[in-house]
Amino acid sequence: MFKKILIANRGEIACRVMTSARRLGIKTVAVYSDADARAKHVDMADEAVRIGPPAVAESYLLGDRIIAAARRSGAQAIHPGYGFLSENPEFVEAVEAAGLVFVGPPASAIRAMGLKDAAKALMARAGVPVVPGYHGERQDAEFLAAEADKIGYPVLIKARAGGGGKGMRLVERPAEFRSALEGAQREGQASFGDPACLIEKYVTQPRHIEIQVFGDGHGNAIHLFERDCSLQRRHQKVIEEAPAPDMPAAVRSAMGQAAVDAARAIGYSGAGTVEFIVDGSGPLREDGFWFMEMNTRLQVEHPVSEAITGLDFVELQLRVASGEALPVRQEDLSIDGWAFEARVYAEDVPKGFLPATGRLDHLRFPEGAEFGPGSVRIDSGVRQGDEISPWYDPMIAKVIVHGPTRAAALNMLSTALEGCQVTGSVTNLEFLGALSRHDGFRRGEVDTGLIARDLDTLVAGAAPSRNVLALAALGGLDLVRERTGDDPWDRLAGWRHWTDAKQYISLEAGDRRIEAQVTGLGKGRFTVDVDGGTVALGVVPLGGNGVRVELEDRQLTADLLREPARVSVFSDGRCYTFGLPDALAEAETDQTGGDTIIAPMPGLVRTVLTETGAAVTKGDPLLVLEAMKMEHTLPAPRDGVVAEVLVAVGDQVTDGTLLLALEPENA
Ligand code: ADP
Ligand code: ADP
Ligand code: MG
Repeated sequence: MFKKILIANRGEIACRVMTSARRLGIKTVAVYSDADARAKHVDMADEAVRIGPPAVAESYLLGDRIIAAARRSGAQAIHPGYGFLSENPEFVEAVEAAGLVFVGPPASAIRAMGLKDAAKALMARAGVPVVPGYHGERQDAEFLAAEADKIGYPVLIKARAGGGGKGMRLVERPAEFRSALEGAQREGQASFGDPACLIEKYVTQPRHIEIQVFGDGHGNAIHLFERDCSLQRRHQKVIEEAPAPDMPAAVRSAMGQAAVDAARAIGYSGAGTVEFIVDGSGPLREDGFWFMEMNTRLQVEHPVSEAITGLDFVELQLRVASGEALPVRQEDLSIDGWAFEARVYAEDVPKGFLPATGRLDHLRFPEGAEFGPGSVRIDSGVRQGDEISPWYDPMIAKVIVHGPTRAAALNMLSTALEGCQVTGSVTNLEFLGALSRHDGFRRGEVDTGLIARDLDTLVAGAAPSRNVLALAALGGLDLVRERTGDDPWDRLAGWRHWTDAKQYISLEAGDRRIEAQVTGLGKGRFTVDVDGGTVALGVVPLGGNGVRVELEDRQLTADLLREPARVSVFSDGRCYTFGLPDALAEAETDQTGGDTIIAPMPGLVRTVLTETGAAVTKGDPLLVLEAMKMEHTLPAPRDGVVAEVLVAVGDQVTDGTLLLALEPENA
């Protein structure tokens, strides 16, 4: 076994590989771009080597620099993760030429599967069922259109070099063929530098079922059962599971055998995945699956297969790469329980799943474990405070659950997603949660069109209830605090001597602006007028961000998080974040003219920058008020002379308090 390896990747997969390496006593070397100098994978590694600026073309795709880093650090092998250089045969050859081991298949196997058309032709020769279609060299539009007619519509055009759902066009009618072909060619050229396309039969109501395989270069090849990845959006996987729902034993073994045949045909070693498109219009059949492509690497969704087999695939990869034979045989393997994986991304779902960026100011995952039975596993490459930058994949985490049955595992997935809290970036958590509760999905009726069919309901986020708004108002006004300190102000939070202790706050939710009025009744009880009604509630801090909310006839718990410019309520498994339009900034712009400065929110007078009798110019800073842990400067509303300063440094004031007055203008 290796003593030291370099991981030529970043993010969750780099961290995941290091976890196994560490368990096996292998030292790890990370590589990083300037954008990742403080990244989690760099921290986790025993040592780390800078490879360049943030752009992937100048860092994570620079094979030579990565190989040099490996040699310099004395690593014996390079694990490529997925993406980046993982399926680049020239890189594999360069690694080997440098006297290092590539943790993956031989370059020849990657090449054989590198282009979808050649791979299909090869598989057809090896007796693996392939989707009917044209996979040849000819590319003139007339010829391809004639082939499409022969295949019969609908057809799918695919860029042969495509991946990640790119370069693909579904064509329903002959009249649409030409423009679709041009589109696929353009995308193939732009994304992969290769415009060539293949045409295949579009399987209606398809399921995507893939088989995990392993080879060892000692003549052994096994499969580790299937994953169903039919929950897709625009041909990209969203939630994966293993095993596949309603998979008959005979179909499982036929697909497993076909995948092993595929692996043997190219002398495969290491981890790989053979993807099949499957007729999902009825029960699965032995003659109802067709080879789509082979991914010659560890796949994003490999953890669900690890869960049901109890094997660590990175360990297997490392053992095979170091020359060992596979430690398991086909007949040793069996399926234990059910597993799901959901991909949590920083993305704006309502805006069409646009990738998002931001600093993860607050990040909580449910208690995570390795892939034991009945467990939740979180694979993540980010920590609280880390940045989701525009440079790389906006993945935040993979949430993986393993339960005894499909129903139990799916419940665990819902609960685990509810346990994830993120602020600082929008995420797809709510969408994933809705998907995990989708009736058809719960029944196992999956196909690649499910998400698109029900997109509107899956994307429609729940509107915050009045109780949530009331809590947000209390949180935004910082009225819910642990009353543990000796400071009487802390203990009296939410309680005032004066009778009319009303406070106002605006909450921003998207384009919506919600006004709330809070009345403190003492002892942590309030009434909140919001959204056309009144909520009476008591709030008891539970430590951390947790609060117990006492409503009229029931109690519930929630997390309430106050950050400088926003407040978040985590309740009912949902996360509601509201912007707090800076009341003060508004006051500043509103207070153009006028004779006075009035406290626009409760706070502490930090600094007094003027005195009675002083001449001031409009906009001069006169007072600094500290509110909600932020300082706000209050400017002179107009040119004039200060008549009176009514507060002193250290005074605690409520909103509406008169702080300073100017001499009347015509005096
Ligand atoms: P998989 O086929 O392993 O499930 P996907 O098809 O969802 O992966 O991902 C699309 C492609 O994008 C993958 O083939 C992978 O090469 C690439 N990719 C995804 N995430 C990352 C990442 N964090 N870093 C680099 N490449 C990535
Ligand atoms: P990629 O390289 O982008 O992963 P694939 O060839 O693996 O491309 O296909 C991605 C997805 O496109 C599949 O998971 C499936 O949803 C859809 N797809 C591919 N081929 C077909 C087909 N012949 N019929 C129907 N859907 C297909
Ligand atoms: Mg694919």
